[in-house]
Order: sequence, then structure tokens, then C-alpha cells
Amino acid sequence: MPELPEVADAVRRIRPRIRGRRILAVAPLHANTRRALSPAVRRRLAGRVITDVVRRGKYQRLILDDGTELVAHFRLDGDWVVQGRAAPLPPHARLLVRLDRDRSLILTDPRALATITGGLPPAMGPEADDPALSAAALHARLAGSRSPIKLALMDQRRIAGLGNIYAAEALWRARIDPRTPAMRLTRRDATRLLRAIRAALRDGERRAGRYRTGTRTAPFKVYDRAGRACTRCGTAIAALRQGGRTTYWCPGCQAA
Ligand SMILES: [Zn+2]
Repeated sequence: MPELPEVADAVRRIRPRIRGRRILAVAPLHANTRRALSPAVRRRLAGRVITDVVRRGKYQRLILDDGTELVAHFRLDGDWVVQGRAAPLPPHARLLVRLDRDRSLILTDPRALATITGGLPPAMGPEADDPALSAAALHARLAGSRSPIKLALMDQRRIAGLGNIYAAEALWRARIDPRTPAMRLTRRDATRLLRAIRAALRDGERRAGRYRTGTRTAPFKVYDRAGRACTRCGTAIAALRQGGRTTYWCPGCQAA
């Protein structure tokens, strides 16, 4: 499931190939994208130039020359394909954006859960990878939450970009029990957690770029490793349910 590093990678891949291109037509290929982009919105999009593509949290913002945006979210397994107009549509194509200079941007999505709208992304907290984010600011944002820290980290209004995978990875690195109420974190915990978030995202970036660079995947520390030995203390990685999702953690070295 795409989180900050994967979405950042998707933006890096398409930005140089669609920036400066004019939209000729927007054609929904599925009921969901047809519903999300009304005929009026589609007409407004035609003729606009894509001036930039930027990430905000797990959203991708295609900025247009009239100041409006096309905002996409991959959800479970959306992705982009950029190809020539004559090429056959890839499998699971849900939206076709025809661009000038014989180019097409296509949203593919086997489960058709990805969203794309002509609006703006919702309000969100600071980016998890923002170098200007301080431990004090992170601490203050988490202090207002009674939720377990794992869920507070996944709350995009508190901090943007982390999902089930990187929240678990960061907590393992910071040796913080995922069930700890967010408001109980000390300033020292927040300092450790911020460092851990950055390290987990750096690993994610290497993983997301693996197709292009051919580098070896950085293995996850806890995510999807239930029953296997913790690389730090040897205890078997455990799994628990939080907010309807599975949290992976080490009962040995992530002390409450
Ligand atoms: Zn451990």
C-alpha cells in the first residue's frame, strides 16, 4: 500500500514526463472516476497545462495553469502509466488523460479504489519528512491525542504521509510500544520518534526506487514479520489489531 515514500516515487516518475504538457481530454474508464470527475469538471480540465506535480501526504497534486488541481490518491494499489497515444491501454486502466505531444497519462488500479478529484487535498498536518519539523512540534501534535501512538501517527491531520507500514517501522526503531497513548509520550520519546520516522522513510525511499535503481530492497524491521525473530533482541515479532489494521511490533524491545 503506497505511503509517503511510494507516493513520492510515483511523483518523481511522472513529473518530468507530464510537466508542461497540455491536457487535451480526460476520459473516465470506470464508474468511480466517471462519478468523481463530472462532465463539467472534465470540460474545465481540457486545455489546461500541467505546471507541476507535487506530493502532499499520500496525495498527488497535479497543479494546472488556471490555479486549479487534479488530486489523486492511490489507496491500495493505484499507479500511473505514461505512454504514447497509440499504445494499447494497460490492464485495469481507470482514467485516461490525453496530453499533447502524443502522450497519455493513465491511472491503473486493479481494485478501482484510487481516487482522483478536481478539488483540493484535505487539510493535513506537517509532512513526516519535512526537515523543518522539530521534535517539539511533533511532541505538541501528539500530546493532544488519547489514541494509541500507532493510530495517532496514522492520523493525517496530526502528521501527513505515514500509514500502517511506516508507523510500525518508526515505532520499532524508536523502541516505543504501539499501544502507548500518544499523550503520554515524553519530549525525549518524540525526539527519538522523529529520528526513527526519518530513518524508516529513508529505507522506504530505497525500497520504492528499487525498480529504477536495481538496488536491493531494504527489508522491513517488523512489518509483516509476525513470528520471526526481532533483528534487535531476538524476540518473536507479534501482531495485534488497532483501528481495524494489523500492527506488527516486538514485545521484547518496544517497552510500554
Ligand atoms: Zn525486539
